[in-house]
Amino acid sequence: MSSHAQVLVLRVEEPSLVAAKVLEQIVKAKIVEPIPTDCVMGGRGYPPGTRIETAIDNPDDVRHVVPNGFEIDFPGKIELYFPPDGGRPWVTCAACRSPLEEDVLLGHLGPRNPFRKRKLARCPGCGDERPIEDWVAHDSAFGNLAFFFWSWHLRVDFIGRVQEWASSTFVVVDYML
Ligand SMILES: [Zn+2]
Repeated sequence: MSSHAQVLVLRVEEPSLVAAKVLEQIVKAKIVEPIPTDCVMGGRGYPPGTRIETAIDNPDDVRHVVPNGFEIDFPGKIELYFPPDGGRPWVTCAACRSPLEEDVLLGHLGPRNPFRKRKLARCPGCGDERPIEDWVAHDSAFGNLAFFFWSWHLRVDFIGRVQEWASSTFVVVDYML
């Protein structure tokens, strides 16, 4: 069976501070439990709390599935979050909307040498050059902090509350595994 997560992807100055603040509030609201367990995919996350129904539309489904927790991801750099289920990530030029070839995109998403100047991604359409994270991402988002909600269908008012706690906007990416 495939797993689904809604992922809130943020680009913020201080990812660890924002994560700590959101975690504090989401625990205080009893939407998740404070002690991490293995309730997420391949890591540690916070299981559903006693008041999870204030955050999602499908509380009964979520209580009985695996994975069903809240996971915080800090990549330590800006990363492209995209659904890994075979759909390919794609980005387009912010100026002329030409798509970047997939192999070029993947090359720019790979590991970087911190001692060398960053390579800019050159647009095949208009020739503009810019860092990869300044391209427009589709069905995906660039960020340095992500909140994964495994199997949750987030309510719109809850997304607004997270936005207030984070003092930041974010992009919601649907993630299938
Ligand atoms: Zn262009």
